[in-house]
Amino acid sequence: MRDWVRVFQHPDSLLVGHVRNLVEGEGVPCEIRNWTLAGGMGDLAPLDCEPQLWVAPHNAERAAGVIARWQRGDSEPGQRWCCAQCGEVHDGAFDRCWQCGEARR
Ligand SMILES: [Zn+2]
Repeated sequence: MRDWVRVFQHPDSLLVGHVRNLVEGEGVPCEIRNWTLAGGMGDLAPLDCEPQLWVAPHNAERAAGVIARWQRGDSEPGQRWCCAQCGEVHDGAFDRCWQCGEARR
C-alpha cells in the first residue's frame, strides 16, 4: 500500500467520502487516509492532516478522470437534461422539473 497515489485531498471529510463513493462507483478500490469524524465547521485540520483519497498506481489515472468529471459537475448519476416544457436545465439526479413539474424525457 505504500506506493499508492494520493488523488484527492480536502479538509471536509464528508466531501472526501463523497468522492470516494464516486471513484469506487467506477470500480476503483480506494482508501481514505487521515479520515476524521470531526469535520466540524471552523475546526479544520492542518493541511497535512486533511482527509486524503488514495488509490493504487494503476488506478490513479482512472480515479483522476472520475474526480475531474465530478469537479466539472457532470459526474452525478445520469446526464444533465433540459426540460422539454420550460427549458430549465437539471442535474441527472432529478427526474422531474423543479420549475414546472414536467417529467423528464
Ligand atoms: Zn420545466
